[in-house]
Amino acid sequence: MLKPQHNDVMILGAGAAGLMCAIEAGKRGRCVVVLEHNDTAGKKIRISGGGCCNFTNIHTAPGQFLSTNPHFAKSALARFTPDDFCRLVKKHGISFHEKKLGQLFCDINAQEIIDLLKKECAAVNAQILTSTSIKTVTKNAAHFHLKTNHGDFSCESLVVATGGLSIPPLGATDLGYRLAKQFAIKVNPCRPGLVPLLWRKNELAIFQDLSGLSVNARVSLNKILFDENILFTHKGLSGPAILQISSYWREGETITIDLLADVDILAELKTQHKSKTTLKNTLADYLPARLAEKLCQHFFADQPLNEISFHKMEKISDWLHGWIVTPAGTEGYAKAEVTVGGVDTTELSSKTMETNKITGLYFIGEVVDVTGHLGGYNFQWAWASGFVAGQSV
Ligand SMILES: Cc1cc2nc3c(=O)[nH]c(=O)nc-3n(C[C@H](O)[C@H](O)[C@H](O)COP(=O)(O)OP(=O)(O)OC[C@H]3O[C@@H](n4cnc5c(N)ncnc54)[C@H](O)[C@@H]3O)c2cc1C
Repeated sequence: MLKPQHNDVMILGAGAAGLMCAIEAGKRGRCVVVLEHNDTAGKKIRISGGGCCNFTNIHTAPGQFLSTNPHFAKSALARFTPDDFCRLVKKHGISFHEKKLGQLFCDINAQEIIDLLKKECAAVNAQILTSTSIKTVTKNAAHFHLKTNHGDFSCESLVVATGGLSIPPLGATDLGYRLAKQFAIKVNPCRPGLVPLLWRKNELAIFQDLSGLSVNARVSLNKILFDENILFTHKGLSGPAILQISSYWREGETITIDLLADVDILAELKTQHKSKTTLKNTLADYLPARLAEKLCQHFFADQPLNEISFHKMEKISDWLHGWIVTPAGTEGYAKAEVTVGGVDTTELSSKTMETNKITGLYFIGEVVDVTGHLGGYNFQWAWASGFVAGQSV
C-alpha cells in the first residue's frame, strides 16, 4: 500500500477563503495542498459581481455581517482590511473601480482575481489539486487522514473552506457542515441569503406583468432597513434592497416597503386637492407609470384629486410608505448568493479560526456562521478569515 502523502496543511475547497489561506500559510514556509472537487479553482469567484467580482467594500465594518455572535468577525476583519486586498490587486496590475456604495469591482473580469490567487499560490508552492473528491476525513492523536480519489493524505492542520450551499452547479456541497458534525462542532441552522423573494398567489396575479420594473425603495424588517432598488420579477421581488433584507427574513415574516421614502406624498396630494389631475397621473410623477397604474387599479381606485377626501389621501400615503408584503418564500439555494448560518462561532477562535475542541482543525469563509451584506463584504470575510487562519495553520 502507498504511504499517504504528508503535508503541513491541507485545505478543503479552492474558493476565495481556501486560496487566501493557502497563500498565507505558504508564505510562512508551510507545505500546503488545497483539495478541490471542481475541475478548476474559484468557480464562484468567476461568476461573482456579474462576472466582474465585487472583491471588497471600502466601508467594511462588523455591522455589515450577520452572525449569531456579531462580535466574532471583528478580529479577522481588523487584521486583513479592504486596503490589504487592494494592495494585492494593485500588485498584480488589475484595474478596478468603485461602482457605488464603496463596492470595488474589476474593470475587466473576475478571472483576474482567480489568476491573482493562483499566481500567489504558485509563488509559495501551495499546490491546488482539482477534480479531487474527498471520501473520508479522520484524525488520530497527531494527524488528520484523508482518503481521496487521488490517494491518501495526512496533515497537521486541516482547514475546511468548502463554502456554503448556494448554487450547487458551481460545486457547493454540505461537506463542511458534515465534517463539523463529525467532529462534534455545533452548526447553526442554514438558510439561503441574498436571495429573491417570492409572491404569494394573490400578489403574483397582480404584479407578475411588472417583471423587469425597478424602483428605489426603503425595505425594512424588524428595525433593519435598506434604501436601494427593488426589482419586480416574474416570480416575486429582487434587486439590492430585497436581496439584503432576504438575509434577515424568516418564513412567515412580513417586510415593509416604503415606495416613496424621500417624498412627503401626503403633503403633495393635499396641496393639489383642488386639482382635476387623476391620482394615477399624480403618482406617476414619483413612481414608474406602470406601477402607479397598477396600484390605482388594485388598491386605490383612480379618481381626480379633487374628488379624494383628506382621509383617503392619508390612507393612500400610509400604504405607499408602508406597503406590507408577506413573501411566500425565497427562490432557494439555486438563486441565493450566500448561506446564512453555519459553523457556530463559539466553536472557533476569532483570532485564528481554529476550533476550540480539535487542535489543528480550522473553518474559514462562508461555511462559518458569518454572512456579509451585499456589496463585496462576503469576499472580504473570505479573505480576512483565510488570512488569519493562514498565519496560524
Ligand atoms: C452568483 C454569486 C455572485 C456573488 N457575487 C459576490 C460578489 O460580487 N462579492 C462578494 O463579496 N460576494 C459575492 N458572492 C458570495 C461569494 O462568492 C462567497 O461568499 C465566497 O465565494 C465564499 O468564499 P468561500 O471560499 O468560503 O466559498 P467558495 O468560494 O464557495 O469556495 C468553496 C470551494 O469549496 C469547494 N467544495 C465544496 N464542496 C466540496 C467538496 N465536497 N469537496 C471538494 N471541494 C468542495 C467548492 O467547489 C468551492 O470551490 C456571490 C455569490 C454568488 C453565488
